[in-house]
Amino acid sequence: MTTIGVLALQGDFIEHEAALRRLGVSTRQVRTPEELRGLDGLIIPGGESTTFCRLMQDFNLYQPLHAFVKTGVPVWGTCAGMIVLAREASDLEFPTLEAIDIAVLRNAYGRQLDSFEADIDVAPFGERPFHAVFIRAPVVERIGSGVEVLATVPEERTGRPNAVAVQQGAILATAFHPELTNDTRFHAHFLDIVRSQGKTPSPK
Ligand code: GLN
Repeated sequence: MTTIGVLALQGDFIEHEAALRRLGVSTRQVRTPEELRGLDGLIIPGGESTTFCRLMQDFNLYQPLHAFVKTGVPVWGTCAGMIVLAREASDLEFPTLEAIDIAVLRNAYGRQLDSFEADIDVAPFGERPFHAVFIRAPVVERIGSGVEVLATVPEERTGRPNAVAVQQGAILATAFHPELTNDTRFHAHFLDIVRSQGKTPSPK
């Protein structure tokens, strides 16, 4: 049985659990290092990245999570979760988990676009666009060469398309909130990563 952990310090972890259950996998709320044990994947939900980082320190979870993301177990961060997973978040006063080679700037879509919704094309999903909900989303400012861009939005402020869904190996990060809509394709995509990870032959 596949078990996906959802970091439950703060933010919309209940919505992630509901989406995962609809897809038939079991979930576990993670608040202690012990609760990371034996997971097949982990989701860091939307919320407030400063609060997440503070609570990770208070709950003695920073080091265990930093080690966990290095083990190759699939991890997905949405919005604040993307910030927490990024290699760099220049305006965050806490260390991130440095799991995916991107640099992000928080709340950077500007006041008018603070929260917005957009139908985006997502490369692995084919023709049907994904309705993406952005709430004070981070802008991805730099993308490392090993990082695949799955979706972009046209960005008026910077005059160039911005990556809003990125993947590096088993690490997935989205600037928006698939857990707030009924479309479970991103959760299914994450479960595909989890399942393909299990099938990878171990090195001899
Ligand atoms: N603006 C928040 C942050 O900086 C993220 C918002 C969200 O997760 N919806 O962490």
